[in-house]
Amino acid sequence: MDLVFATHNTNKLKEVGLLLPKNIRLISLEDIGCSEEIPETETTLEANAQLKADYITKHYGISSFADDTGLLIDALNGAPGVYSARYAGEEKDSEKNMEKVLNELKNSTSREASFKTVIALNVNSKRLLFEGIVEGKITYEKRGANGFGYDPIFIPTGYDQTFAQLPIQIKNEISHRGKALQKLIKYLATV
Ligand code: IMP
Repeated sequence: MDLVFATHNTNKLKEVGLLLPKNIRLISLEDIGCSEEIPETETTLEANAQLKADYITKHYGISSFADDTGLLIDALNGAPGVYSARYAGEEKDSEKNMEKVLNELKNSTSREASFKTVIALNVNSKRLLFEGIVEGKITYEKRGANGFGYDPIFIPTGYDQTFAQLPIQIKNEISHRGKALQKLIKYLATV
């Protein structure tokens, strides 16, 4: 079965392509000639992921899936959440995003946070959602050089290193995206 991953992120595409079961042929947006920026105008991770998957199914008539991720910080009432990519501005600068978070938490001892990924899948006329969450806490300063986004300021529960210090294999096993992907893969093996 052909399945489009509605992302322009080639790293994600590669990573997921290696994990999918043999019955699935992963198709990129480039393969179907979709160069436009798919709108992410909703206010929840679920609705944004669904919007992106629906966009492909509606315009190209192919089964598809899309993901959306956010960092949810308890002391900030769930912010940056769905706005994680552009928390400090439209330029989507990770350094500025982290500085903003650390600054907003500078007088707070409450550091609890979680990453959440939602994957929306449209297949065989069904619309399904898969979710992955990793709990943890926000550090007081950046640590580590691996990964991307907020990795240098997030320590997953049960570890003393940030996602940017942990080996990528460990991050992939325990992460929000890893967990959501494992659920997607398990489901796709049955279709
Ligand atoms: P996206 O929905 O995967 O594009 O993620 C939205 C934003 O959340 C990204 O721009 C990053 O700032 C942040 N983010 C997503 N996944 C991760 C992660 O695994 N580590 C750190 N930050 C992440």
